[in-house]
Amino acid sequence: MSLSNGHSYLAIPGPSTMPDRVLSAMHRGSPNIYEGELHALCASLWPDLRKVAGTTQNVAAYIGNGHATWEAANANLFSKGDKALVLATGQFGLGWAGTAKSMGIDVELLDFGKSSPPDFTKVEAALRADKEGKIKAVLTTQVDTASTIRTDVAGLRAAMDAAGHPALLAVDCIASLACDEYRMDDWGVDVTVAASQKGLMTPPGIGFVWFSEKARLACAQSDLRTPYWAWAPRADATEFWQYWAGTAPTHHLYGLREALTMIVHEEGLSNVWARHEALAAAVWAAFDVWGSGNPAIAMNVADPADRGRSVTAARFGAPHATRLRTWCETKAGVTLGIGLGMAPPDDPAYHGFLRVAHMGHVNAHMTLGALAVMDAGLKALSIPHGSGALEAAAQVVALAAGA
Ligand SMILES: *Cc1c(COP(=O)(O)O)cnc(C)c1O
Repeated sequence: MSLSNGHSYLAIPGPSTMPDRVLSAMHRGSPNIYEGELHALCASLWPDLRKVAGTTQNVAAYIGNGHATWEAANANLFSKGDKALVLATGQFGLGWAGTAKSMGIDVELLDFGKSSPPDFTKVEAALRADKEGKIKAVLTTQVDTASTIRTDVAGLRAAMDAAGHPALLAVDCIASLACDEYRMDDWGVDVTVAASQKGLMTPPGIGFVWFSEKARLACAQSDLRTPYWAWAPRADATEFWQYWAGTAPTHHLYGLREALTMIVHEEGLSNVWARHEALAAAVWAAFDVWGSGNPAIAMNVADPADRGRSVTAARFGAPHATRLRTWCETKAGVTLGIGLGMAPPDDPAYHGFLRVAHMGHVNAHMTLGALAVMDAGLKALSIPHGSGALEAAAQVVALAAGA
């Protein structure tokens, strides 16, 4: 039988679960785009968007997804033939490198594989080797959503400084903004990109590019930009249409207003980070116990310090990850993420990987519920596993939440 009727839970790393408040804020007639409340609402978003990224500098917003923000960043950072040093720790650094290459940017790729954080000595060496100063910017992900490796952005900045290289630092925070601690200005980041549908709890459709004054000046002559992608006219808009280079994403803005109110003004950003940290630790505790009874079960990233706080990639041995995902969805209403980029979909090994998201609008009952469903699935499917995972996860939650 199936026990899946009831509120289903999409535990994939984006689009994430949206708060009912975000959904109801969008359920309204179209606002006037020429004057009135939409203009005031939009103006109120910018200070909060700066806060979530930890910057007092510039924000440009686009109707688009994460891929759009890669292209926006590329178009503003580089001229044709400029060099980018791109760090890959899974799937998404490779993706960003691919868009850069196709735009005529000369890409030097440092690929650290699918389970290791970047080795900053290699970054430093690559920058030192660039005697002619051809590298205009270093591109990295904060959290690679496929491998779930987290990059120490402050550590990366320190390595760039140690090399004494003037390259700008650009960070993809699409999977981590408003989940993992992030401080753009304190950490010396020049460009941050993110999208609305992950930690920001709003439907896919808005992409953001934050940029430093230093990046604005260093890129003023860059020749890849076209009128639609240019960041300055959006960040410096004096007329409402200029924020969006055309019609605003009207309904998304009402949803985003509500989401930012919840994150910045109600829960508070540091509490949002702490909640993600605690729920991630609960998931990791469960995996440690499951794996203790079956060496085929393991998280993809060995050291907790190198794991993203919004999503956890794991292996169960093929074909058990796919069997477990299917069971959780059809029998219990929990949809887990596929194992992105770990093996090609037509390779039997593909069915050994999955991801559990704990991103955005999630609380203890959702994460403990997802883990309990997985535990039940392991039992139903007779997949060997250590017992006591739920006890361990509950202990973590109890300790974090306190009395
Ligand atoms: C989701 C994601 C992307 C791609 O975003 P889309 O909105 O799907 O285009 C890029 N980078 C990271 C780290 C992501 O998590």
